[in-house]
Amino acid sequence: MFENSDQSKTDLSELGEFGLIDHLTKSFNITPEFTLKGIGDDAAVLDFKEEKVIVTTDLLVEGVHFDLSYMPLKHLGYKAVMVNLSDVYAMNATPRQITVSIAVSNRFPVEALEELYAGIKLASKLYKVDVVGGDTSSSTSGLIISVTALGGAKEEEVVYRSGAKTNDLLVVTGDLGAAYMGLQVLEREKQVFKVNPKNQPDLDPYTYLIERQLKPEARKDIPPLFKALEVKPTSMIDISDGLSSEVIHLCKNSKTGVNLFEEKIPLDPAVISVCEEFQLDSTTIALSGGEDYELLFTIDQGDYDKIKGNPNFTVIGHMTEEAEGMHLVTRANQKIPLIARGWNAMDKKEDKK
Ligand code: ADP
Ligand code: MG
Repeated sequence: MFENSDQSKTDLSELGEFGLIDHLTKSFNITPEFTLKGIGDDAAVLDFKEEKVIVTTDLLVEGVHFDLSYMPLKHLGYKAVMVNLSDVYAMNATPRQITVSIAVSNRFPVEALEELYAGIKLASKLYKVDVVGGDTSSSTSGLIISVTALGGAKEEEVVYRSGAKTNDLLVVTGDLGAAYMGLQVLEREKQVFKVNPKNQPDLDPYTYLIERQLKPEARKDIPPLFKALEVKPTSMIDISDGLSSEVIHLCKNSKTGVNLFEEKIPLDPAVISVCEEFQLDSTTIALSGGEDYELLFTIDQGDYDKIKGNPNFTVIGHMTEEAEGMHLVTRANQKIPLIARGWNAMDKKEDKK
């Protein structure tokens, strides 16, 4: 779709590296309060005032992390930003700036990169972050995009993976498994399309799932909500690789065990019905699917009343002594050891790499 065979598209070489950077970034504004100098000098100059600086980076590689046959470039740009902002929120911090580095082959016309940057721009506007720099290179084959996010938080507000205590409640935002099932639907449609390109799929029943895969939103509402509720989680992580591996990260970093209750795992009805259609177990999908970008955290039991009944939160378990181990308590009330079968493990199993 983005192959540069169409003569009406502009070849990257027509602009050159500097022309291209200028073209893609000229419309980016900065917030003078936090960004003294953005794009255009040897380096950006930022102001974090009294706050500690939170930094995180992700790298997305075509063919490994995304497939352009069903991922529109605008969505890719948006998602590349979300993945990073989610990590900043998982520290209970506020993202302020991002940098964007890309390597592109000349099979992409300028118009394709405009799309990518339209997604980046939309994300930066909605999430109030400044694009303050990056790097641009050529690539011999696919597209590579790396985003770094910078955020700020008061030192006492920062939440690490390591603070959970025995008896703390384990809580998750939103619902799980939808992004993974969205990917399954898109993969299936791609295969159908290969056989019969004229087939017009009815994707309406899958709208929520596909949106969760193609246009994930980071939980920017959650850190301010904690503040309003006067709750500080004892530990927190974002769910990028599936619930089980993230729970295990919290346990290992905090030196605790866990009892995670299968019946409590929040699932959207669309996930339950599409799992039936694909003959997949919805618990397995929530535990091992990926890219939900929800937040998983622990709180002291004494804070339960503050979050009770809030529609953003579901209590799914509690932390135990480390020696008790990490367990999933099934609907049949059986305790089975929790294993990390993250997104990558599933990917390999289904031979998608
Ligand atoms: P340098 O040679 O110092 O690396 P560049 O010419 O690569 O400088 O970049 C010039 C300016 O444009 C810098 O502010 C840089 O951060 C920014 N920039 C370069 N590539 C990108 C990009 N892909 N997205 C956003 N900003 C970029
Ligand atoms: Mg450079």
